[in-house]
Amino acid sequence: MDVLITALLPDEVVSLIRQEHRVEMNGELRPMEREKLLRGLEGKDGLLCSITDRIDGELLDRAPGLKIIANYGVGFDHIDLEAVTRKGIPVTNTPGVLTDATADIAFALILATARRMVEGDRIARAGRFRFWSPLNFLGQQVSGKTLGIVGFGRIGRALAKRAAGFDMRVIYHSRTRLDLSEELKLNVDYASFEELLRAADFVSVHVPLTSQTRHLVGARELKLMKPSAYLVNTARGPVVDEAALVEALRNGTIRGAGLDVYENEPDLAPGLAELDNAVLLPHVGSATIETRTRMAHMAAENLLAGLRGEKPPNCLNWELLGGR
Ligand code: NAP
Repeated sequence: MDVLITALLPDEVVSLIRQEHRVEMNGELRPMEREKLLRGLEGKDGLLCSITDRIDGELLDRAPGLKIIANYGVGFDHIDLEAVTRKGIPVTNTPGVLTDATADIAFALILATARRMVEGDRIARAGRFRFWSPLNFLGQQVSGKTLGIVGFGRIGRALAKRAAGFDMRVIYHSRTRLDLSEELKLNVDYASFEELLRAADFVSVHVPLTSQTRHLVGARELKLMKPSAYLVNTARGPVVDEAALVEALRNGTIRGAGLDVYENEPDLAPGLAELDNAVLLPHVGSATIETRTRMAHMAAENLLAGLRGEKPPNCLNWELLGGR
């Protein structure tokens, strides 16, 4: 069968797919342009796409024979799940394998913002590190502080484990509350969203982007946070109102922010790049060699199963398709 892979993947994974199917792959590091993607999909049976490809009705119309959409990534807000399901196409993602890498980056952002690591690096490189002094370049202690985790799924829980190593108190808010026994095991306390915003020294967001979570953190929520608090977002940019965040960072509503994702990626909200109290990463949550390789294998397994007409291991809409 014919497969389109929209992102450059490791040779070993592409070879696996090539053993069974004809493969057309985007040979460049940058995402496929929309027109190229639409044309490339024509006549294809399988699509292995990434989070930068918008999968909607227009695209699906180009490939009426499509049997599987295997997404490289856990977030699937770029996929119109309803439209895909209406066409009877299974969609898969790559959950779990990127949990640790993304939780590591969230914790790195907590440390980097509170301890002013990027600012310090800039000063040292510029030759402006001239003396040590007791009151020079002070940041905030991370150990022992309160971490508020919003969205307590795989990555949220992995972050809680890391925080335990720093003797942090962890409170969480999520759509579904854990059993008390699980809360005790993880040493976390449930809080309403407002309680969490008011109490946390660090608020880290780990919800998927949905119509309910778009701008979950806006001007009102930022005002509820402590003026000494930090916001970390490794989930999806539009979960935070970025213009409101720039304003809050500028006028001291909160002390700082660590971001891996942006509302209009790859563009940054006006003013964000000029702020010293923001640490900005280029969407690298899952970007380790180990994790990205495992994601590629997982996406390929899903693709191959779908092309065989079997239930793919990580199917998001199998039940919606009636279990087939
Ligand atoms: P997950 O296991 O599905 O966890 C998401 C959690 O958010 C679940 O506990 C879910 O509650 C909760 N939730 C959903 N809607 C909510 C709402 N309206 N209010 C409060 N909580 C809500 O997903 P994950 O694997 O941890 O990944 C989380 C997100 O991280 C992904 O969707 C993706 O967008 C992002 N991500 C980013 C990177 C990166 O490179 N920066 C890498 C990986 C993932 P339920 O338990 O009720 O479903």
